[in-house]
Amino acid sequence: MGTYHSTRARNNNKTARVAIRQGLASDGGLFVSDDLGLTNIDVNTIAAKSYHELAHEIMAMLLPDFTADEIAQCVDEAYGSSFAHTEITPLVALPCAPDSSTDVPSFVLELFHGPTSAFKDVALQMLPRLMARTGAAAENKTNNGTVGTTATSSELDTEAEAVDEAVAAAKATDERVLIVTATSGDTGKAALAGFADAPGVGIVVFYPEGKVSRVQELQMTTQTGSNVTVCAVRGNFDDAQTAVKHIFANAELKERLAAQNVVLSSANSINVGRLVPQVVYYFSAYAQLIRQGSIMPGELVEFCVPTGNFGDILAGYYAQCLGLPVAKLLVASDKNNVLFDFLETGVYNRLRPFYTTSSPSMDILVSSNLERMLYYFAQGNTELVSSFMDKLANQGSYTIPADMLARIRTVFDGSWANEEQVNAAIQSCWERNHYLIDPHTACGYHVLGEIAPTPNTAARVLLSTASPYKFPRVVADALGLETPADDFDCMSALEAATNTQAPAQLATLREQRVLHTSVADIDELPRVVEQAATMLT
Ligand SMILES: *Cc1c(COP(=O)(O)O)cnc(C)c1O
Repeated sequence: MGTYHSTRARNNNKTARVAIRQGLASDGGLFVSDDLGLTNIDVNTIAAKSYHELAHEIMAMLLPDFTADEIAQCVDEAYGSSFAHTEITPLVALPCAPDSSTDVPSFVLELFHGPTSAFKDVALQMLPRLMARTGAAAENKTNNGTVGTTATSSELDTEAEAVDEAVAAAKATDERVLIVTATSGDTGKAALAGFADAPGVGIVVFYPEGKVSRVQELQMTTQTGSNVTVCAVRGNFDDAQTAVKHIFANAELKERLAAQNVVLSSANSINVGRLVPQVVYYFSAYAQLIRQGSIMPGELVEFCVPTGNFGDILAGYYAQCLGLPVAKLLVASDKNNVLFDFLETGVYNRLRPFYTTSSPSMDILVSSNLERMLYYFAQGNTELVSSFMDKLANQGSYTIPADMLARIRTVFDGSWANEEQVNAAIQSCWERNHYLIDPHTACGYHVLGEIAPTPNTAARVLLSTASPYKFPRVVADALGLETPADDFDCMSALEAATNTQAPAQLATLREQRVLHTSVADIDELPRVVEQAATMLT
């Protein structure tokens, strides 16, 4: 019996494996588990644990139908040499707090040491490994307790062998998975890096034309792999995301794909397999704070999270449910401040101007993962969640009851930064701390400066979601440097002026060949997906 069900209905439970393979529930809801928080992680023991050990423990708890061996294999494969730091997500102290009126020490949790220099790597290096263990063979393995046609754990030493296992699983049903995802910039490349050349799996990435940085675009358009489709879309991210949601709801299209033995799945942050790995770094941050002598186990910590689709910060809420002493979770938005208004008023209204900002991964009007938060704060009332989502779709807004808003506000607070404030934050952080931040992280830095710490907070942690070198033009400009026409010259200017170094995987993009040049209108996306499916056979 599975523990996962839709946020919009409690019948039809699924295992974590099926929830991961499927992505979205068939009624359009998100998969949630009522077991969240039934068991806790003991924070008195975590200081002694490595990132990998924390990941084993937390992921096994949240994905109960995966075996401990499978989780261990996934963790070791995902967080190996592709991360440039042994802590995976290292914690760095800021000598000067963003809020100069407080003496609560501030830290940055660097989530950008993965292969694409953005925090999404932490989840997207994991998701394909989990996905590879969700085929029919893997299901049999849990059901009858035998190893079946899949390789045993000790044989799975290398990535290639893990991939063979995925082939075996796919062969058992002859079914292939086509990942379809819309990206506002970072998801696309991180998903491509995770899924490229994975047998039995194809991936289609749509990004809004002209709305991602040149570095982000090149990261995607230079992606190699025989199972990869990258396509620019005429429209903004929300248009692309909505079109992808329609593809998932398109029964005729899915039938035609099923005839070719292809099922659709999502790598977007609504997938349980992306959410769960993100819970780990909240505990890792806490463990590092204890190890550095900055807090005692049990003391309260505040986390400030640059937010778009609400996945990253929701993982912080999951961490709190698992026993992490969280004082507050601060939602940091850019000028697209729909979440700030929601937390102030209880009204979520997507009918508002859309702004294209220097933090494209946060330019979002519909934060998909918020639905999971609503589910938990509606105390599991799926009908209520359904009614909110119906209103959001049909009328453009919904209002939550006052008592529900009050409960949410005991955990979440937040604010937002306009473009000038983002630039000022980048400059101020550099001048006061000699620490470079990207425009997304800068929204969080600004918000930490605006909101005073909750009483009894022992430390404040800002989650840094991208390397400043992914956005070299914005960062160089904020520091008052010359900004040459080419983004890569901006990178060099930034290196020279700050005596820091761009990650090699970004600096070398300029020399790589562009392999993907398609541009499509919104109504052409189903056709692009069908085309990609035929490539899978
Ligand atoms: C995706 C992303 C975010 C937003 O994260 P969500 O989980 O969507 O809230 C923030 N910053 C960067 C750099 C990102 O790539």
